[in-house]
Amino acid sequence: MAPPYASFVSELKEHGLLKSVSEVLHWDEQTQMPPKAAGHRGEQVALLAKMLHAKFTSPRFGDLLAAAEAALPRGAEIDSDEAVNVRETRRSYDRARKLPADLVEELARTGVLAQQAWAEARSKNDYPAFRPWLEKIILLKRREADCIGYASGNRYDALLDEYEPGATAADVKRTFDALRGPLVDLVRKIGQSPKKAPLEVLERQYPAAAQERLARAAAAAVGFDFGAGRLDTSTHPFCTGLGPGDTRMTTRYDERYFGDAFFGVLHETGHALYDQGLPAEHFGTPLGEAVSLGIHESQSRMWENLVGRSRAFWRHFMPQARQAFPQALAGVSDDDWHFAVNDVRPSFIRTEADEATYNLHVMLRFELEQAMLSGEVGAADVPAAWNERMKNYLGLTPPDDARGCLQDIHWSGGAIGYFPTYTLGNLYAAQLFEQARKDLGDLDAMFARGEFAPLLGWLRKNIHSRGKRYLARDLVRRVTGSDLSPEPLLRHLRAKAGELYGVS
Ligand code: ZN
Repeated sequence: MAPPYASFVSELKEHGLLKSVSEVLHWDEQTQMPPKAAGHRGEQVALLAKMLHAKFTSPRFGDLLAAAEAALPRGAEIDSDEAVNVRETRRSYDRARKLPADLVEELARTGVLAQQAWAEARSKNDYPAFRPWLEKIILLKRREADCIGYASGNRYDALLDEYEPGATAADVKRTFDALRGPLVDLVRKIGQSPKKAPLEVLERQYPAAAQERLARAAAAAVGFDFGAGRLDTSTHPFCTGLGPGDTRMTTRYDERYFGDAFFGVLHETGHALYDQGLPAEHFGTPLGEAVSLGIHESQSRMWENLVGRSRAFWRHFMPQARQAFPQALAGVSDDDWHFAVNDVRPSFIRTEADEATYNLHVMLRFELEQAMLSGEVGAADVPAAWNERMKNYLGLTPPDDARGCLQDIHWSGGAIGYFPTYTLGNLYAAQLFEQARKDLGDLDAMFARGEFAPLLGWLRKNIHSRGKRYLARDLVRRVTGSDLSPEPLLRHLRAKAGELYGVS
Protein backbone atom coordinates (compact mmCIF):
# COMPACT_ATOMS: atom_id res chain seq x y z
CA MET A 1 0.00 0.00 0.00
CA ALA A 2 1.21 3.48 -0.86
CA PRO A 3 2.02 5.76 2.05
CA PRO A 4 -0.93 8.00 3.05
CA TYR A 5 0.49 11.25 1.69
CA ALA A 6 1.25 9.70 -1.72
CA SER A 7 -2.27 8.25 -2.01
CA PHE A 8 -3.76 11.60 -1.06
CA VAL A 9 -1.68 13.51 -3.62
CA SER A 10 -2.41 11.04 -6.39
CA GLU A 11 -6.17 11.43 -5.79
CA LEU A 12 -5.80 15.21 -5.67
CA LYS A 13 -3.91 15.24 -8.97
CA GLU A 14 -6.58 13.15 -10.62
CA HIS A 15 -9.14 15.68 -9.45
CA GLY A 16 -6.99 18.47 -10.90
CA LEU A 17 -6.80 16.68 -14.25
CA LEU A 18 -10.54 16.20 -14.43
CA LYS A 19 -11.07 19.86 -13.54
CA SER A 20 -8.74 20.94 -16.33
CA VAL A 21 -10.83 18.89 -18.77
CA SER A 22 -13.89 20.96 -17.90
CA GLU A 23 -11.80 24.12 -18.29
CA VAL A 24 -10.86 23.13 -21.84
CA LEU A 25 -14.58 22.85 -22.56
CA HIS A 26 -15.12 26.31 -21.10
CA TRP A 27 -12.36 27.81 -23.26
CA ASP A 28 -13.85 26.13 -26.34
CA GLU A 29 -17.30 27.44 -25.47
CA GLN A 30 -15.98 31.02 -25.35
CA THR A 31 -13.83 30.89 -28.48
CA GLN A 32 -14.83 28.15 -30.94
CA MET A 33 -18.11 26.45 -30.14
CA PRO A 34 -20.95 26.85 -32.65
CA PRO A 35 -24.09 28.35 -31.07
CA LYS A 36 -26.20 25.24 -31.62
CA ALA A 37 -23.85 23.21 -29.42
CA ALA A 38 -24.86 25.11 -26.26
CA GLY A 39 -27.34 22.48 -25.05
CA HIS A 40 -24.97 19.56 -25.51
CA ARG A 41 -22.12 21.53 -23.92
CA GLY A 42 -24.35 22.30 -20.95
CA GLU A 43 -24.86 18.55 -20.43
CA GLN A 44 -21.13 17.85 -20.69
CA VAL A 45 -20.21 20.57 -18.24
CA ALA A 46 -22.93 19.66 -15.75
CA LEU A 47 -21.84 16.00 -15.76
CA LEU A 48 -18.24 16.95 -15.12
CA ALA A 49 -19.24 19.37 -12.36
CA LYS A 50 -21.25 16.65 -10.67
CA MET A 51 -18.39 14.16 -10.95
CA LEU A 52 -15.90 16.68 -9.61
CA HIS A 53 -18.04 17.60 -6.63
CA ALA A 54 -18.78 13.96 -5.81
CA LYS A 55 -15.11 13.01 -6.08
CA PHE A 56 -13.87 15.86 -3.95
CA THR A 57 -16.47 15.61 -1.18
CA SER A 58 -16.57 11.80 -1.03
CA PRO A 59 -15.97 10.12 2.36
CA ARG A 60 -13.19 8.19 0.64
CA PHE A 61 -11.32 11.37 -0.18
CA GLY A 62 -12.05 12.63 3.35
CA ASP A 63 -10.34 9.50 4.68
CA LEU A 64 -7.32 10.00 2.42
CA LEU A 65 -7.03 13.60 3.61
CA ALA A 66 -7.36 12.61 7.28
CA ALA A 67 -4.74 9.88 6.85
CA ALA A 68 -2.34 12.32 5.18
CA GLU A 69 -2.92 14.75 8.04
CA ALA A 70 -2.24 12.08 10.63
CA ALA A 71 0.92 11.00 8.81
CA LEU A 72 2.49 14.50 8.85
CA PRO A 73 5.65 14.24 10.89
CA ARG A 74 5.27 15.82 14.32
CA GLY A 75 6.76 19.28 14.46
CA ALA A 76 6.91 19.42 10.66
CA GLU A 77 7.54 22.87 9.25
CA ILE A 78 4.18 24.58 8.78
CA ASP A 79 5.19 25.57 5.26
CA SER A 80 6.72 22.27 4.16
CA ASP A 81 5.30 20.93 0.87
CA GLU A 82 3.28 18.24 2.63
CA ALA A 83 1.91 20.56 5.31
CA VAL A 84 0.83 23.16 2.73
CA ASN A 85 -0.98 20.68 0.50
CA VAL A 86 -2.77 19.12 3.44
CA ARG A 87 -3.66 22.45 5.07
CA GLU A 88 -5.04 24.05 1.91
CA THR A 89 -6.94 20.95 0.84
CA ARG A 90 -8.49 20.73 4.30
CA ARG A 91 -9.62 24.33 3.90
CA SER A 92 -11.40 23.72 0.59
CA TYR A 93 -12.67 20.26 1.56
CA ASP A 94 -14.35 21.55 4.73
CA ARG A 95 -15.82 24.44 2.82
CA ALA A 96 -17.25 22.15 0.14
CA ARG A 97 -18.59 19.68 2.72
CA LYS A 98 -20.38 22.37 4.69
CA LEU A 99 -22.59 23.28 1.74
CA PRO A 100 -25.64 21.06 1.44
CA ALA A 101 -26.14 19.61 -2.05
CA ASP A 102 -29.53 21.30 -2.44
CA LEU A 103 -27.98 24.73 -1.79
CA VAL A 104 -25.15 24.11 -4.26
CA GLU A 105 -27.67 23.08 -6.89
CA GLU A 106 -29.99 25.99 -6.15
CA LEU A 107 -27.10 28.46 -6.36
CA ALA A 108 -25.97 27.00 -9.68
CA ARG A 109 -29.46 27.03 -11.17
CA THR A 110 -30.28 30.52 -9.90
CA GLY A 111 -26.93 31.75 -11.18
CA VAL A 112 -27.73 30.65 -14.73
CA LEU A 113 -31.30 32.02 -14.71
CA ALA A 114 -30.36 35.26 -12.96
CA GLN A 115 -27.57 35.83 -15.45
CA GLN A 116 -30.03 35.55 -18.32
CA ALA A 117 -32.44 37.90 -16.53
CA TRP A 118 -29.57 40.30 -15.84
CA ALA A 119 -28.43 40.37 -19.49
CA GLU A 120 -31.94 41.18 -20.62
CA ALA A 121 -32.55 43.73 -17.86
CA ARG A 122 -29.29 45.47 -18.70
CA SER A 123 -30.06 45.62 -22.42
CA LYS A 124 -33.51 47.11 -21.66
CA ASN A 125 -32.26 49.26 -18.79
CA ASP A 126 -34.92 47.61 -16.61
CA TYR A 127 -33.65 47.25 -13.04
CA PRO A 128 -37.06 46.23 -11.62
CA ALA A 129 -36.93 43.10 -13.84
CA PHE A 130 -33.63 42.08 -12.22
CA ARG A 131 -34.52 43.08 -8.66
CA PRO A 132 -36.27 39.82 -7.59
CA TRP A 133 -33.29 37.84 -8.86
CA LEU A 134 -30.87 39.94 -6.85
CA GLU A 135 -33.10 39.47 -3.80
CA LYS A 136 -33.01 35.73 -4.29
CA ILE A 137 -29.25 35.66 -4.73
CA ILE A 138 -28.72 37.68 -1.56
CA LEU A 139 -30.87 35.21 0.39
CA LEU A 140 -28.96 32.24 -1.02
CA LYS A 141 -25.59 33.85 -0.33
CA ARG A 142 -26.63 34.59 3.27
CA ARG A 143 -27.51 30.94 3.63
CA GLU A 144 -24.22 29.92 2.07
CA ALA A 145 -22.29 32.16 4.48
CA ASP A 146 -24.22 30.74 7.44
CA CYS A 147 -23.44 27.16 6.36
CA ILE A 148 -19.74 27.96 6.05
CA GLY A 149 -19.62 29.95 9.26
CA TYR A 150 -17.66 33.05 10.23
CA ALA A 151 -15.85 33.35 13.50
CA SER A 152 -15.54 37.11 13.02
CA GLY A 153 -19.27 37.78 13.34
CA ASN A 154 -19.30 39.22 9.81
CA ARG A 155 -21.08 37.13 7.18
CA TYR A 156 -19.17 38.79 4.39
CA ASP A 157 -15.97 37.09 5.58
CA ALA A 158 -17.34 33.66 4.71
CA LEU A 159 -17.89 34.78 1.09
CA LEU A 160 -14.70 36.82 0.71
CA ASP A 161 -12.68 33.82 1.91
CA GLU A 162 -13.55 31.90 -1.26
CA TYR A 163 -11.74 34.44 -3.43
CA GLU A 164 -9.13 35.85 -1.05
CA PRO A 165 -8.37 33.16 1.52
CA GLY A 166 -7.60 34.52 4.96
CA ALA A 167 -8.74 38.09 4.21
CA THR A 168 -11.49 39.68 6.30
CA ALA A 169 -13.90 42.48 5.48
CA ALA A 170 -12.49 44.45 8.42
CA ASP A 171 -8.93 44.28 7.02
CA VAL A 172 -10.10 45.22 3.55
CA LYS A 173 -12.22 48.06 4.92
CA ARG A 174 -9.30 49.48 6.89
CA THR A 175 -7.10 49.52 3.79
CA PHE A 176 -9.83 50.88 1.51
CA ASP A 177 -10.76 53.59 4.05
CA ALA A 178 -7.17 54.78 4.02
CA LEU A 179 -7.13 54.84 0.21
CA ARG A 180 -10.53 56.40 -0.47
CA GLY A 181 -10.06 59.97 0.79
CA PRO A 182 -6.68 60.63 -0.84
CA LEU A 183 -7.88 59.01 -4.07
CA VAL A 184 -11.10 61.04 -4.30
CA ASP A 185 -9.00 64.11 -3.64
CA LEU A 186 -6.42 63.25 -6.31
CA VAL A 187 -9.08 62.48 -8.94
CA ARG A 188 -10.80 65.81 -8.19
CA LYS A 189 -7.54 67.74 -8.56
CA ILE A 190 -6.78 65.98 -11.84
CA GLY A 191 -10.26 66.94 -13.09
CA GLN A 192 -9.57 70.59 -12.24
CA SER A 193 -6.19 70.62 -13.98
CA PRO A 194 -6.13 72.60 -17.23
CA LYS A 195 -4.00 69.84 -18.75
CA LYS A 196 -6.03 67.26 -20.66
CA ALA A 197 -4.84 64.04 -22.28
CA PRO A 198 -5.06 64.00 -26.10
CA LEU A 199 -7.44 61.03 -26.12
CA GLU A 200 -8.22 61.45 -29.79
CA VAL A 201 -4.94 59.79 -30.75
CA LEU A 202 -6.22 56.48 -29.37
CA GLU A 203 -9.45 56.73 -31.36
CA ARG A 204 -7.96 56.77 -34.84
CA GLN A 205 -8.00 53.85 -37.28
CA TYR A 206 -6.09 50.88 -35.82
CA PRO A 207 -6.42 47.85 -38.15
CA ALA A 208 -7.14 44.69 -36.14
CA ALA A 209 -4.44 42.60 -37.85
CA ALA A 210 -1.74 45.13 -36.94
CA GLN A 211 -3.10 45.40 -33.39
CA GLU A 212 -2.84 41.65 -33.05
CA ARG A 213 0.75 41.57 -34.33
CA LEU A 214 1.83 44.28 -31.90
CA ALA A 215 -0.02 42.70 -28.96
CA ARG A 216 1.60 39.33 -29.69
CA ALA A 217 5.01 40.96 -29.94
CA ALA A 218 4.48 42.66 -26.57
CA ALA A 219 3.24 39.47 -24.89
CA ALA A 220 6.25 37.54 -26.21
CA ALA A 221 8.66 40.33 -25.24
CA VAL A 222 7.57 40.32 -21.61
CA GLY A 223 7.89 36.55 -21.45
CA PHE A 224 4.68 34.80 -22.56
CA ASP A 225 5.65 31.42 -24.03
CA PHE A 226 3.60 30.93 -27.21
CA GLY A 227 4.85 27.36 -27.36
CA ALA A 228 2.88 26.77 -24.16
CA GLY A 229 -0.09 29.02 -24.78
CA ARG A 230 -2.38 30.76 -27.23
CA LEU A 231 -4.03 34.10 -27.88
CA ASP A 232 -7.52 33.99 -29.42
CA THR A 233 -10.50 36.32 -29.66
CA SER A 234 -13.64 36.22 -27.51
CA THR A 235 -16.40 38.63 -26.50
CA HIS A 236 -15.25 38.73 -22.88
CA PRO A 237 -11.45 38.59 -22.61
CA PHE A 238 -10.03 36.09 -20.12
CA CYS A 239 -7.04 33.87 -19.38
CA THR A 240 -7.21 30.27 -18.35
CA GLY A 241 -4.39 28.05 -17.17
CA LEU A 242 -5.34 24.58 -18.38
CA GLY A 243 -2.26 22.92 -16.94
CA PRO A 244 1.48 22.66 -17.51
CA GLY A 245 2.31 23.80 -21.04
CA ASP A 246 -1.17 25.11 -21.79
CA THR A 247 -2.19 28.65 -20.86
CA ARG A 248 -4.74 30.38 -23.07
CA MET A 249 -5.72 34.00 -23.21
CA THR A 250 -8.20 35.94 -25.30
CA THR A 251 -8.88 39.50 -26.33
CA ARG A 252 -11.11 41.52 -28.67
CA TYR A 253 -10.16 44.15 -31.21
CA ASP A 254 -11.81 47.54 -31.65
CA GLU A 255 -10.40 49.21 -34.77
CA ARG A 256 -11.39 52.63 -33.46
CA TYR A 257 -9.82 52.30 -30.04
CA PHE A 258 -6.24 51.27 -29.47
CA GLY A 259 -6.34 50.73 -25.72
CA ASP A 260 -8.79 47.87 -25.41
CA ALA A 261 -6.86 45.08 -27.08
CA PHE A 262 -3.28 46.15 -26.38
CA PHE A 263 -3.63 46.77 -22.65
CA GLY A 264 -6.15 43.94 -22.41
CA VAL A 265 -3.54 41.53 -23.80
CA LEU A 266 -0.87 42.86 -21.43
CA HIS A 267 -3.35 42.35 -18.59
CA GLU A 268 -4.13 38.77 -19.59
CA THR A 269 -0.43 38.18 -20.20
CA GLY A 270 0.19 39.09 -16.56
CA HIS A 271 -2.30 36.42 -15.51
CA ALA A 272 -0.78 34.01 -18.02
CA LEU A 273 2.80 34.54 -16.83
CA TYR A 274 1.64 33.60 -13.35
CA ASP A 275 -0.01 30.43 -14.67
CA GLN A 276 3.02 29.56 -16.80
CA GLY A 277 5.25 30.08 -13.75
CA LEU A 278 3.37 27.75 -11.38
CA PRO A 279 5.45 24.66 -10.59
CA ALA A 280 4.40 21.96 -13.07
CA GLU A 281 5.36 19.11 -10.75
CA HIS A 282 2.72 20.29 -8.29
CA PHE A 283 -0.10 20.54 -10.84
CA GLY A 284 -3.44 19.60 -9.28
CA THR A 285 -2.31 20.35 -5.73
CA PRO A 286 -2.39 23.68 -3.83
CA LEU A 287 1.36 24.09 -4.37
CA GLY A 288 0.61 24.26 -8.09
CA GLU A 289 -2.13 26.88 -7.68
CA ALA A 290 -2.30 30.66 -7.39
CA VAL A 291 -2.50 32.23 -3.92
CA SER A 292 -5.76 34.14 -4.43
CA LEU A 293 -7.67 36.22 -6.95
CA GLY A 294 -6.09 39.36 -5.51
CA ILE A 295 -2.55 38.08 -6.03
CA HIS A 296 -3.53 36.87 -9.52
CA GLU A 297 -4.85 40.34 -10.31
CA SER A 298 -1.65 41.91 -8.96
CA GLN A 299 0.25 40.13 -11.72
CA SER A 300 -2.08 41.31 -14.49
CA ARG A 301 -2.16 44.87 -13.17
CA MET A 302 1.59 45.05 -12.80
CA TRP A 303 2.24 44.22 -16.46
CA GLU A 304 -0.72 46.22 -17.75
CA ASN A 305 -0.28 49.41 -15.72
CA LEU A 306 2.99 49.62 -13.85
CA VAL A 307 5.03 48.26 -16.76
CA GLY A 308 2.81 48.75 -19.83
CA ARG A 309 1.84 52.37 -19.18
CA SER A 310 5.33 53.48 -18.19
CA ARG A 311 7.43 55.86 -20.26
CA ALA A 312 10.26 53.33 -20.33
CA PHE A 313 8.06 50.60 -21.80
CA TRP A 314 7.05 52.87 -24.69
CA ARG A 315 10.60 54.04 -25.23
CA HIS A 316 11.16 50.44 -26.31
CA PHE A 317 7.82 49.79 -28.08
CA MET A 318 7.05 53.12 -29.76
CA PRO A 319 9.19 52.37 -32.84
CA GLN A 320 7.30 49.07 -33.32
CA ALA A 321 3.97 50.83 -32.78
CA ARG A 322 4.88 53.47 -35.36
CA GLN A 323 5.71 50.73 -37.83
CA ALA A 324 2.44 48.94 -37.13
CA PHE A 325 0.28 52.09 -37.42
CA PRO A 326 2.11 54.55 -39.69
CA GLN A 327 -1.07 56.54 -40.41
CA ALA A 328 -2.68 56.66 -36.97
CA LEU A 329 0.58 57.64 -35.29
CA ALA A 330 1.72 60.19 -37.86
CA GLY A 331 2.42 63.42 -36.00
CA VAL A 332 1.80 61.87 -32.58
CA SER A 333 4.70 62.65 -30.23
CA ASP A 334 5.96 60.19 -27.65
CA ASP A 335 4.74 62.61 -24.96
CA ASP A 336 1.22 62.77 -26.43
CA TRP A 337 1.09 59.00 -26.54
CA HIS A 338 2.29 58.61 -22.97
CA PHE A 339 -0.30 61.14 -21.76
CA ALA A 340 -3.13 59.52 -23.76
CA VAL A 341 -2.52 56.01 -22.40
CA ASN A 342 -2.39 57.43 -18.87
CA ASP A 343 -5.53 59.55 -19.01
CA VAL A 344 -7.43 59.79 -15.72
CA ARG A 345 -11.06 60.84 -15.73
CA PRO A 346 -14.22 59.73 -13.93
CA SER A 347 -16.48 57.50 -16.02
CA PHE A 348 -19.51 55.31 -15.46
CA ILE A 349 -18.17 51.90 -16.45
CA ARG A 350 -15.72 50.08 -14.22
CA THR A 351 -14.14 47.96 -16.94
CA GLU A 352 -13.27 51.09 -18.93
CA ALA A 353 -11.91 53.01 -15.96
CA ASP A 354 -8.29 54.21 -15.66
CA GLU A 355 -5.92 52.91 -13.00
CA ALA A 356 -6.85 55.63 -10.47
CA THR A 357 -10.66 55.88 -10.68
CA TYR A 358 -11.00 52.10 -11.08
CA ASN A 359 -10.51 51.62 -7.36
CA LEU A 360 -13.39 53.94 -6.50
CA HIS A 361 -15.70 51.78 -8.64
CA VAL A 362 -14.54 48.76 -6.66
CA MET A 363 -15.00 50.38 -3.24
CA LEU A 364 -18.55 51.35 -4.11
CA ARG A 365 -19.35 47.71 -4.90
CA PHE A 366 -17.57 46.39 -1.80
CA GLU A 367 -19.63 48.73 0.40
CA LEU A 368 -22.90 47.87 -1.31
CA GLU A 369 -22.30 44.14 -1.09
CA GLN A 370 -21.80 44.36 2.65
CA ALA A 371 -24.89 46.54 3.04
CA MET A 372 -26.99 44.12 0.97
CA LEU A 373 -25.76 41.13 2.90
CA SER A 374 -26.48 42.75 6.26
CA GLY A 375 -29.89 43.93 5.05
CA GLU A 376 -29.01 47.59 5.51
CA VAL A 377 -29.68 48.17 1.80
CA GLY A 378 -32.56 46.21 0.27
CA ALA A 379 -32.57 45.22 -3.40
CA ALA A 380 -35.09 48.02 -4.13
CA ASP A 381 -32.65 50.63 -2.78
CA VAL A 382 -29.61 49.47 -4.75
CA PRO A 383 -29.88 51.97 -7.65
CA ALA A 384 -30.19 54.96 -5.29
CA ALA A 385 -27.37 53.72 -3.04
CA TRP A 386 -25.20 53.14 -6.12
CA ASN A 387 -25.85 56.57 -7.59
CA GLU A 388 -25.23 58.33 -4.30
CA ARG A 389 -21.77 56.78 -4.03
CA MET A 390 -20.97 57.52 -7.69
CA LYS A 391 -21.74 61.16 -6.95
CA ASN A 392 -19.63 61.23 -3.79
CA TYR A 393 -16.61 59.37 -5.15
CA LEU A 394 -16.53 60.27 -8.82
CA GLY A 395 -18.76 63.32 -9.06
CA LEU A 396 -20.99 61.61 -11.62
CA THR A 397 -24.63 60.50 -11.74
CA PRO A 398 -25.28 57.54 -14.05
CA PRO A 399 -27.84 58.47 -16.72
CA ASP A 400 -29.51 55.06 -16.30
CA ASP A 401 -29.11 51.77 -14.38
CA ALA A 402 -27.54 50.04 -17.39
CA ARG A 403 -24.60 52.39 -16.86
CA GLY A 404 -25.07 52.12 -13.10
CA CYS A 405 -25.90 49.17 -10.90
CA LEU A 406 -26.73 46.83 -13.82
CA GLN A 407 -23.34 47.05 -15.53
CA ASP A 408 -21.52 44.06 -13.98
CA ILE A 409 -22.22 40.37 -14.44
CA HIS A 410 -20.82 39.32 -11.01
CA TRP A 411 -23.83 39.55 -8.70
CA SER A 412 -26.13 37.79 -11.14
CA GLY A 413 -23.84 34.75 -11.09
CA GLY A 414 -23.70 34.78 -7.29
CA ALA A 415 -20.16 36.20 -7.12
CA ILE A 416 -20.44 38.35 -4.00
CA GLY A 417 -17.14 39.06 -2.25
CA TYR A 418 -15.23 39.01 -5.54
CA PHE A 419 -14.99 42.75 -6.31
CA PRO A 420 -12.54 43.76 -3.54
CA THR A 421 -9.94 41.42 -5.05
CA TYR A 422 -9.58 43.83 -8.00
CA THR A 423 -8.40 46.70 -5.81
CA LEU A 424 -6.42 44.36 -3.58
CA GLY A 425 -4.69 43.36 -6.81
CA ASN A 426 -3.78 46.98 -7.57
CA LEU A 427 -2.51 47.48 -4.04
CA TYR A 428 -0.45 44.28 -4.00
CA ALA A 429 0.93 45.15 -7.45
CA ALA A 430 2.17 48.59 -6.39
CA GLN A 431 3.72 47.30 -3.18
CA LEU A 432 5.43 44.35 -4.89
CA PHE A 433 6.65 46.58 -7.72
CA GLU A 434 8.30 49.01 -5.27
CA GLN A 435 10.11 46.07 -3.74
CA ALA A 436 11.16 44.77 -7.15
CA ARG A 437 12.69 48.19 -7.88
CA LYS A 438 14.62 48.05 -4.59
CA ASP A 439 15.86 44.54 -5.32
CA LEU A 440 16.61 44.88 -9.03
CA GLY A 441 17.76 48.46 -9.44
CA ASP A 442 16.86 50.63 -12.42
CA LEU A 443 13.87 48.80 -13.89
CA ASP A 444 13.11 51.72 -16.22
CA ALA A 445 16.50 51.46 -17.87
CA MET A 446 15.87 47.74 -18.36
CA PHE A 447 12.38 48.26 -19.84
CA ALA A 448 13.71 50.93 -22.20
CA ARG A 449 16.16 48.33 -23.51
CA GLY A 450 13.35 45.80 -23.86
CA GLU A 451 14.66 43.74 -20.94
CA PHE A 452 11.75 42.32 -18.98
CA ALA A 453 13.34 39.05 -17.89
CA PRO A 454 14.76 40.44 -14.62
CA LEU A 455 11.29 41.49 -13.40
CA LEU A 456 9.72 38.24 -14.56
CA GLY A 457 12.50 36.26 -12.86
CA TRP A 458 11.85 38.19 -9.63
CA LEU A 459 8.12 37.41 -9.84
CA ARG A 460 8.84 33.76 -10.62
CA LYS A 461 11.06 33.45 -7.58
CA ASN A 462 8.98 35.44 -5.10
CA ILE A 463 5.40 34.70 -6.23
CA HIS A 464 4.85 32.17 -9.01
CA SER A 465 7.04 29.29 -7.87
CA ARG A 466 5.54 29.29 -4.39
CA GLY A 467 2.03 28.22 -5.38
CA LYS A 468 -0.36 28.52 -2.43
CA ARG A 469 2.38 28.14 0.18
CA TYR A 470 1.43 31.41 1.92
CA LEU A 471 -1.78 33.37 2.39
CA ALA A 472 -1.78 36.60 0.39
CA ARG A 473 -1.13 38.88 3.38
CA ASP A 474 1.75 36.68 4.59
CA LEU A 475 3.26 36.51 1.12
CA VAL A 476 3.20 40.30 0.80
CA ARG A 477 4.81 40.71 4.23
CA ARG A 478 7.43 38.09 3.43
CA VAL A 479 8.38 39.63 0.08
CA THR A 480 8.16 43.34 0.95
CA GLY A 481 8.83 43.31 4.67
CA SER A 482 5.60 45.22 5.44
CA ASP A 483 1.87 44.68 5.75
CA LEU A 484 -0.33 45.67 2.85
CA SER A 485 -0.57 49.45 2.67
CA PRO A 486 -2.30 51.92 0.33
CA GLU A 487 0.81 54.11 0.25
CA PRO A 488 2.75 52.46 -2.63
CA LEU A 489 -0.28 52.75 -4.94
CA LEU A 490 -0.89 56.35 -3.86
CA ARG A 491 2.79 57.18 -4.42
CA HIS A 492 2.62 55.72 -7.90
CA LEU A 493 -0.61 57.53 -8.84
CA ARG A 494 0.56 60.85 -7.36
CA ALA A 495 3.88 60.69 -9.17
CA LYS A 496 2.12 60.18 -12.47
CA ALA A 497 -0.46 62.89 -11.74
CA GLY A 498 2.36 65.26 -10.89
CA GLU A 499 4.17 64.56 -14.12
CA LEU A 500 1.15 64.65 -16.42
CA TYR A 501 -1.35 66.98 -14.75
CA GLY A 502 0.90 69.12 -12.57
CA VAL A 503 -1.00 68.09 -9.42
CA SER A 504 -0.07 65.84 -6.51
ZN1 ZN B 1 -7.65 40.31 -14.36
